[in-house]
Formats: sequence, C-alpha cells, structure tokens
Amino acid sequence: MNCPKCLGTFKTYTFENIKFERCDNCQGLWFDMLEKEDLIQIKGSESIDIGSDQVGLQYRDMRNIDCPVCNQRMVPMIDKDQFHIRYESCVNCYGTFFDAGEFRDLKELTILDRFTKMLKTLRTNF
Ligand SMILES: [Zn+2]
Ligand SMILES: [Zn+2]
Repeated sequence: MNCPKCLGTFKTYTFENIKFERCDNCQGLWFDMLEKEDLIQIKGSESIDIGSDQVGLQYRDMRNIDCPVCNQRMVPMIDKDQFHIRYESCVNCYGTFFDAGEFRDLKELTILDRFTKMLKTLRTNF
C-alpha cells in the first residue's frame, strides 16, 4: 500500500496488538476503521508518531488525495476539539490519514480533555 500524500510505502507495525501503517517516507500514519480510536486510548501510543512536525506541515494542506485502500477521494476532516488538526478520512472504508505529528497532537489534547472532565466530575461530587 502506498502513502496517498507522498507515494512512499506504508509499512505495517503493531502497538499493543493494534495494527497501524506508517509511511516510510513522510512518516504519516494510516489507520483502518476504529484503529485510531483504540490506539488513542492506550498509554504511550503517541510514540508511534515518530515523524517531524516540519515534514507533517509540508503535507498538511495537500488536498485531493485518494484512499490507498479503495481509491475513493478522501474527505478533509477537522478534529472537533482541536481545529488545527486536519486529517483525511475515507467515507467508504473509514480509514484515516494523519500527517506526521498530528496523532501526537491529537493525543495530547485527549489526555488533557479527560483530565479536565475528571476534575469537573470531582467538583460536582464535592
Ligand atoms: Zn508519505
Ligand atoms: Zn477507503
């Protein structure tokens, strides 16, 4: 499978038994349906995003990319909590592509968010 952005090759890796693909060139990440949701819950999973933010930025605004799995045009998405995180999603197979650094970024907020929610819960309990 080839990277939809730089046409590098996706290599399959696993983290805590969850499979994901990483481009050997731009280090963008590819997740099949629900892999992202599973991975983001796991402690330390941000370590799979080894790419540099600079490289990620170069590809961030690339549009009109096709899903490497089913060749459908992918839809640009904006993370509902972090508007600067833009990733691509396939409406057919639900695969998602993250530029290097974006998964790390997304994960940081997820943790912070959970912490804030936890604090709120604590507050309502007292
Ligand atoms: Zn790539
Ligand atoms: Zn697809």
